[in-house]
Amino acid sequence: MHAETSLATKYRKLLAEFQKLESEYEKTKRTLEIREIEVRAILAQAHELANTDVLTFLPNRRKIISTLQEEVIRSNRYSTPLAVSILDIDHFKNVNDTYGHTAGDQVLRSVAACLRTQIRHPDTIGRYGGEEFLIVLPNSEMQAAAEQASRLCQQIRNFRIDVNEQVTSVTISIGVAQFKVGQETWDELLHRADTALYQAKEKGRDRWAAAE
Ligand code: GH3
Ligand code: MG
Ligand code: MG
Repeated sequence: MHAETSLATKYRKLLAEFQKLESEYEKTKRTLEIREIEVRAILAQAHELANTDVLTFLPNRRKIISTLQEEVIRSNRYSTPLAVSILDIDHFKNVNDTYGHTAGDQVLRSVAACLRTQIRHPDTIGRYGGEEFLIVLPNSEMQAAAEQASRLCQQIRNFRIDVNEQVTSVTISIGVAQFKVGQETWDELLHRADTALYQAKEKGRDRWAAAE
């Protein structure tokens, strides 16, 4: 009888300990699940930041080039057309000289925001360099890219920008190139677009030029 009581006491004690451990385990499991969600959110934010230009909030150079590389692979694989445009703000140095560098940043941000409103999926625009932008146009031939370039020149020409309580405007020049499927690399394509941009500048700026 005494042995039975002692066994029952031991059992109750062990059961209580087990229940306590089980409850602690559940609590720790929940905490770990919450931590995992937090870590995933931080990683997603870090990924977003690594791909975003801090001044304009457009995809940064790394990201837009990676988009271009992916589209070149797709174009080669499926023989679909692909075009790119490199945009450069005309005489931007004058903007900085006239209004100061901080105001120059503001102008850059406004131009980027205006351009973004003009670009529709699946086209992507990113900040390629200082006052230069790159547009990747999947499934597009030269004609579509040229029409877009012409429209963008016009939009930016007519875009009024508030800076230092004054209103100003800028113009852009654009070099457009269609990808030679299976015949060139992504950087050769960019080089041709850049040469076309240079030609647009040479011809007087505020215009687009097509690469050969
Ligand atoms: P062009 O018509 O030949 O393009 O003339 P430009 O003055 O725009 O060209 P240039 O390459 O001589 O000068 C580019 C200027 O853009 C100089 C540089 O200080 C300015 N710039 C580049 N990045 C930034 C930026 O992030 N913020 C500001 N405020 N200015 C920038
Ligand atoms: Mg430039
Ligand atoms: Mg410029």
